[in-house]
Amino acid sequence: MSQQYILAIDQGTTSTRAILFDLRGQVEGVAQQELTLYYPHNGWAEQNPEDIWRDTQLVCRDVLEQSDIKASQVIAIGITNQRETTVVWDRKTGQPLYNAIVWQDRRTADLCQKLKSHEASVQQKTGLLLDPYFSGTKIKWILDNVPGAREKAKKGELAFGTIDCFLLWRLTGGKVHATDITNASRTLIYNIVKQDWDDELLSMLDIPRSMLPEVKDNSCLFGKTMTDFLGSEIPVTGMAGDQQAALFGQACFKPGMVKSTYGTGCFALMNIGKDFRASKNKMLTTVGYRLNGELTYAIEGSIFVAGAAIQWLRDGLKIIKSAAETEALAMSVADNGGVYMVPGFTGLGAPYWNPKARGALVGLTRGTTSAHIVRAALEAQAYQTLDLMQAMADDADHAIDEMRVDGGMVKNNWVCQFLADMTSKPVLRPAIVETTALGAAYLAGLQVKAFASLEDIQKAWVCERRFAPVMQQEMQQKLYTGWQHAVKQVLV
Ligand code: ADP
Repeated sequence: MSQQYILAIDQGTTSTRAILFDLRGQVEGVAQQELTLYYPHNGWAEQNPEDIWRDTQLVCRDVLEQSDIKASQVIAIGITNQRETTVVWDRKTGQPLYNAIVWQDRRTADLCQKLKSHEASVQQKTGLLLDPYFSGTKIKWILDNVPGAREKAKKGELAFGTIDCFLLWRLTGGKVHATDITNASRTLIYNIVKQDWDDELLSMLDIPRSMLPEVKDNSCLFGKTMTDFLGSEIPVTGMAGDQQAALFGQACFKPGMVKSTYGTGCFALMNIGKDFRASKNKMLTTVGYRLNGELTYAIEGSIFVAGAAIQWLRDGLKIIKSAAETEALAMSVADNGGVYMVPGFTGLGAPYWNPKARGALVGLTRGTTSAHIVRAALEAQAYQTLDLMQAMADDADHAIDEMRVDGGMVKNNWVCQFLADMTSKPVLRPAIVETTALGAAYLAGLQVKAFASLEDIQKAWVCERRFAPVMQQEMQQKLYTGWQHAVKQVLV
């Protein structure tokens, strides 16, 4: 029998990727397309859903061709995606009514402010806060602003979906309108305690139930791709939002286990087990995963700027030529020279949630060099992570033993060591850093029995390097106090 594979589609904010895994979870091939973001107004962010669909087809075909693998060898597809990004389309024609409104988009900030009195109830039901980040207010914006949209929605002619759901619809030739529970949990209208769309929240945002997809487990038969897609019908059997897929790919299956991803932004998730609890520290409660109807919750801390600060050093300040240089530069100075960067370019996320804050560089002297500024940008990731870890540990009553990391920034050994020093926890970098796609592949593979169980997946997780904390506590405290002082200066 010819060898079998699982295809993971990783539809991210800046690119769309297709990754082929063999049945031991090893990467066989990768294809990628960059995706254009549009910023039509200050604070708005959009993408063309047709670009997303075109790129998805392209990368899937490319990866098979490059790897010389036939569609018939692909036994399952898993989808993982940028979360919260919102598409509304016409059920009859399949055409989107408006561009995809991307998670970063702030156009509904005033609406969220107006609804603030509902925040406590929203948090008890959804685990989320009233912030433009989530899908609900974006759906309302489309219904309120696209001519004719509301009438069509009332007649049941429209469908809403996050990107996973939109792709599934297209992949199945318009046959299936479904999402998975992790993506549903980011919409602001899904009650993660009752595990159903919430009528009160739907009425608060004036969204008809008829637009909403069916919500399924993360590992199940979502549908089969139309033959046109790759030449043979392939079952889609795994689906999860990107951060939850990474939690799964990092095999964080026990309460207290934490993964932290350092890409454009930083997202830390902690498995908190079977019981819902709302955060006391402005963290989010979210669905980690649901398998065979059994739900595992997670606490999440979202930081909007991580690697994006390094991109700014390269493209904005132009003091580095590539992200890779930052490691040597950080090591070229003995310390940060008293310089701190608060990377609040688009406001501050968890645990501050201060959309009006802006970034700052503090502690500059005539002795400050570009190396100090680079070091400050890298250090900031660890300070922000410690903010999150403290909030999480307090919320969950679980001691955090270690942190599993992934994302583009963790190639930087200096960053990993400083993370360990600042959080006083061992930092573990896995052998396969494609954890998001791997998580989607694991979910898809569980359904088709390519992986037998969570224990099987746990065993497949291999640590490439462990960074143990070595910094003296006094120094750690001194640095963190410097950070807290810098943050205070930007809070408005
Ligand atoms: P995303 O999935 O959000 O697009 P990635 O996980 O691919 O992001 O990570 C890319 C980010 O990592 C970029 O912002 C880049 O600046 C940063 N990055 C890449 N390599 C390094 C490095 N060696 N040191 C520091 N940052 C890095």
